Amino acid sequence: MIRDSEKIEKQVLQQITPTKKDRETLEKTIKELKDKVTEEIEKNDIPASIELVGSTAKDTYLTNSLDIDLFLIFPASISREHLQEMGLSIGQYILEKKEECFAEHPYIRGYFKGYKTEIVPCYKIESASQKLSAVDRTPLHTKYVKEHLAEKQKNEVRLFKQFLKGIDCYGAEAEVEGFSGYLCEILVLKYGSFQNLLLHVQHWHYGKQLSLNTGTFPRFDTPLIFIDPVDNERNVSSALSKEKFNLFVKACKEYIKKPRITFFFPNKIKPWPLDKIRNETKTREFIGVKIKKPDIIAENLYPQVRKAMRSVIDLCVKYDFPIMDSFFHINDNSIYIILLPEKSKLSKTMFHMGPPVDLKSNADDFIKKWVNNPRTIKKPFEKDKRLYAEIEREYVEIKKLLKEQIKNLSLGKHIDLIVQKDFTILEHQDLFKENLCTLWTGYLDKKMPWER
Ligand code: 5GP
Repeated sequence: MIRDSEKIEKQVLQQITPTKKDRETLEKTIKELKDKVTEEIEKNDIPASIELVGSTAKDTYLTNSLDIDLFLIFPASISREHLQEMGLSIGQYILEKKEECFAEHPYIRGYFKGYKTEIVPCYKIESASQKLSAVDRTPLHTKYVKEHLAEKQKNEVRLFKQFLKGIDCYGAEAEVEGFSGYLCEILVLKYGSFQNLLLHVQHWHYGKQLSLNTGTFPRFDTPLIFIDPVDNERNVSSALSKEKFNLFVKACKEYIKKPRITFFFPNKIKPWPLDKIRNETKTREFIGVKIKKPDIIAENLYPQVRKAMRSVIDLCVKYDFPIMDSFFHINDNSIYIILLPEKSKLSKTMFHMGPPVDLKSNADDFIKKWVNNPRTIKKPFEKDKRLYAEIEREYVEIKKLLKEQIKNLSLGKHIDLIVQKDFTILEHQDLFKENLCTLWTGYLDKKMPWER
């Protein structure tokens, strides 16, 4: 098996390691970018120095997908507003097809000579405890990795990153909730090589704790805890979700059992014909909420969609529609929240439980509320020392519940505004009129990315 994996890993490395020519082009571009930024800084008297950070600085980038990350480092004496104004203006001036990103910290993302590039203002700090903004540690991370990662380990990082990409666990951004590039690097530092890392991961469970330093560290309730070697107070893997942690551990186990190139480069989902999808979902009744997609960046959109899905599920449960499964999908124009309720229609009436009869004051309240209520079918009565009433349900159909109540939920800042006017409830059959065959196939075939 080790022999098989060596062969595969060699093949993968050939595709993701930069050639001499790749390196030369990249280095030339980075130099041009730095020169241009320096010129702007000098021309406008901006008190910042520049530093290349991220995977191109550490030589751990994948040649088929790389970002140039250039930081503008300001002294702590500059106000935050001033730092943002000056930092963003340079990115605005130099990059093409740019967008201003306001997630945790504002920066400009765009393209420079065809390379995806980020220009990020931050404060200069010597140690992590001086951190003033969310990204100030990044130069310290770059320095740490450059100092500690051995030359031959750079390809181990590349392999690991591509493995994570293949199983859709690469990236700490909200869309993925997986592993950041820095987390990949320190995991390789911890275990030495890709193979050895995977051998250990097989035995990981929720709450696995790692560090490169010695000492005592704060507690974190996340699936994986890796104490930042440059900041003992921080957990580098705080963005990793439980789902992605489980998927990762499973993938490592399976890869060790049976290594395949599809772990690194999975085949695309081959969408089933609509008839097959209809047939496979025949015994279940899904319901969907389609919401117009707000025009915001992914880092802000995904947390809102997850929140919206949770709120919609809570609403259903509150009105006696337990949800057995749920997922969401986002395309260019719409957000889909898809639910599988246990039942989509309930009986017209229900037995509503009240307080124990001994609790006099509560019992009186209950009787007062239900004795002449228009919804009452059978007035409050006692059974096993407790009060009950038979009442009409507020919602018999999940469709009506969603249609009427979604507007009143807290779904996230931008989505809240949109649902006031722009959403549709899609019943089971409507769901298949949407162009979602790939999504349904991926959901129904239950295949892991490497099994396709
Ligand atoms: P509702 O029908 O709105 O759930 O309850 C009406 C009133 O009945 C409540 O304000 C409360 O005083 C009483 N009540 C209903 N269910 C319970 C219960 O499980 N325990 C207690 N202590 N009081 C209840």
